[in-house]
Amino acid sequence: MILEQIAGATKEFREKIIATYWGGKIETEQHPKLMCGCDVLPNGWTEITWKELAQSRFFGHTPIATGWSRTKLGDARMFFMHDAVSYAFIGEYWAGTVKVFRFGCKHQMETKNVGNCLNRYTCKTCGFSEVIDSSD
Ligand SMILES: [Zn+2]
Repeated sequence: MILEQIAGATKEFREKIIATYWGGKIETEQHPKLMCGCDVLPNGWTEITWKELAQSRFFGHTPIATGWSRTKLGDARMFFMHDAVSYAFIGEYWAGTVKVFRFGCKHQMETKNVGNCLNRYTCKTCGFSEVIDSSD
């Protein structure tokens, strides 16, 4: 079991997250029915299936931060991941249902071999980069 304590975020970290996912500033939009102010959805917001979540990298990494956002679709519980591809759940209290969403960069990876079985993947869009050992 790996336990990681989630602490508060600094102003700098919050600004970095907002720049990555909202492009610098979270705008407000009006809720279609409730007429209250909502946070605009982050970049790349897409509803996915539970199967897609099950087969995603969500289970392989600890989120670097969590967040909460009131959106026009409902209140989103957000999980920010290290690789700029993140996930959110929106629960419908009265219906007893949960929808799952992915957001952030739709990576366009370029592959470069950097060693025997080592490949460096770099996203052409956001610049995220990682080395993956394909030997196992
Ligand atoms: Zn990317």
